[in-house]
Amino acid sequence: MKPRNILPAEPLSMLSADRRRRERDQLASGHIVDVLVIGGGVTGVGVALDAATRGLDVALIEAHDFAFGTSRWSSKMVHGGLRYLASGKVGVAWESAVERSLVAQYIAPHLVHPFAQLVPIFDSTPKTEVLATGAGVVAGDVLRRASRLPKSRLPGPTRVGAERARELVPTISDDGLRGAYVSWDFRLEDDARLVVAIARTAAAYGAKLLTRARAISVEPDGAVVEDTHNGGQFAIRARHVINATGVWAGTLDPQINVTPSRGTHLVVPAAALGNPKASLAVPVPGHFGRFVFTIPQFDNVVYIGLTDVPAPGPIPDVPRPDGEEIDWILENINLGLGHTLTRDDIIGTFAGLRPLVSDPNSDDSTADISRHHLVTGGPGEVITVTGGKLTTYRRMAQDTVDRVTDADCQTTRVPLVGVGGTPPEGSLPSRLIRRFGAEAGAIAALAEQEPSLLQPINDDIHCPLLGVEVIWAQQAEGALDIDDILERRTRISLVPADAQTVRGAVEALMDNTNGN
Ligand SMILES: Cc1cc2nc3c(=O)[nH]c(=O)nc-3n(C[C@H](O)[C@H](O)[C@H](O)COP(=O)(O)OP(=O)(O)OC[C@H]3O[C@@H](n4cnc5c(N)ncnc54)[C@H](O)[C@@H]3O)c2cc1C
Repeated sequence: MKPRNILPAEPLSMLSADRRRRERDQLASGHIVDVLVIGGGVTGVGVALDAATRGLDVALIEAHDFAFGTSRWSSKMVHGGLRYLASGKVGVAWESAVERSLVAQYIAPHLVHPFAQLVPIFDSTPKTEVLATGAGVVAGDVLRRASRLPKSRLPGPTRVGAERARELVPTISDDGLRGAYVSWDFRLEDDARLVVAIARTAAAYGAKLLTRARAISVEPDGAVVEDTHNGGQFAIRARHVINATGVWAGTLDPQINVTPSRGTHLVVPAAALGNPKASLAVPVPGHFGRFVFTIPQFDNVVYIGLTDVPAPGPIPDVPRPDGEEIDWILENINLGLGHTLTRDDIIGTFAGLRPLVSDPNSDDSTADISRHHLVTGGPGEVITVTGGKLTTYRRMAQDTVDRVTDADCQTTRVPLVGVGGTPPEGSLPSRLIRRFGAEAGAIAALAEQEPSLLQPINDDIHCPLLGVEVIWAQQAEGALDIDDILERRTRISLVPADAQTVRGAVEALMDNTNGN
């Protein structure tokens, strides 16, 4: 199949409840697909897209909704691997840099935005740490250049004085501040939005994608599926089955032994940090190469992360941070701030689980593949893909689909929906252009009869959510209920009080006749 730009609102890319019902009936009728993918996180939808663009007949089932699992709880960065260099993982860093370059230039340029990250230098910062940080940012820039990502897309690093550092992060500590290293990376518009864009692109290439469809038993030639939307069970038959269920992979493949580790972020109003223009990375004392960092967002909030704590026991649907993690993040970020952030500043928290997996084919009993990925199995077996990261989803998919076909991988040059012909700044609400790229015009057109749909639903919440986004989520993005919209298509629920404020208004905008 030839790579191409998907036109805005191209019918095959549109995911709706009606389409789900049709495709469910087709899959339940005994139709045999080439590839059945289980799991609708970034890994699963990436595999579905890769396989569909190689001309394979693909179905994907997801127990809840796209990006229900770890994929919506990330730091939302498409990063160039600088942090892996610090721990000597050069191969992982290089793979990250190459994939970052592809995403930012060809695959989803509209969904990734460059951001500056400051590492402060104080009178008290040990000289070795200053030198190591300087060497790190230069090495990161070498990776950028080697991955052919031009400076026009991602600026190179600089060292700035105290005054400039304060302009970028107004609440940075003044106590002996000498300046900062500034390096650049990409933040995603939103991780769940990336997942939905990949899913819709896979759909445009013919993949059949069913959310609310849980695999309850899996064999190398198919799965028994529970339909939690329309009810009942049915079987899907397939030539190959790929388990992409992330931290749940061990529930379907007994050879995989996952030990999750939890990573938590806090959400604070941007005003609590003086509306910063850059991210602040504060070294964690006693842990070389480890930082607590802020990530400013467009929606008037800042995320602060990140913990890494063992989370043994049953895997929860929605992980929750514990009080110790919250205090640890506050304590460490406060080391770099001029005023103390407290629990009263927190308006939301979120936590995700990294899969630490033992490779059944390795002597190393507990290899940490949470940053690199692992593909096990081949033809005649269930194939499992776990680990990795959002940034490298495309490469993970390539390595997985290579196990079932000799056809060449296409995805280095397959743009996602929303790429190409982005409307000029000022012609439409900037929020729509940022979140939907070339599709912004088609979404704005939903307000032709009702111009108020292009106004924020509520001025008292942090995020200026527009009415057309709710309608588009149902018509094109496979949202089946209000939680899909609040929690994954718009992310309003990252600030629970905001979600409560707009719940009634969002419900009123939804087309409730389309729900079955
Ligand atoms: C705290 C944190 C921060 C991170 N930050 C970054 C970052 O900034 N940048 C980056 O590149 N990476 C980051 N990562 C890594 C990245 O988020 C993950 O590697 C990635 O999201 C994993 O995606 P996945 O699709 O494999 O798993 P998931 O997103 O968990 O998807 C698995 C899906 O399978 C579904 N499922 C489970 N069981 C079944 C079943 N029986 N039938 C059907 N469906 C089922 C689940 O509902 C789920 O939707 C971070 C990870 C963590 C934990």
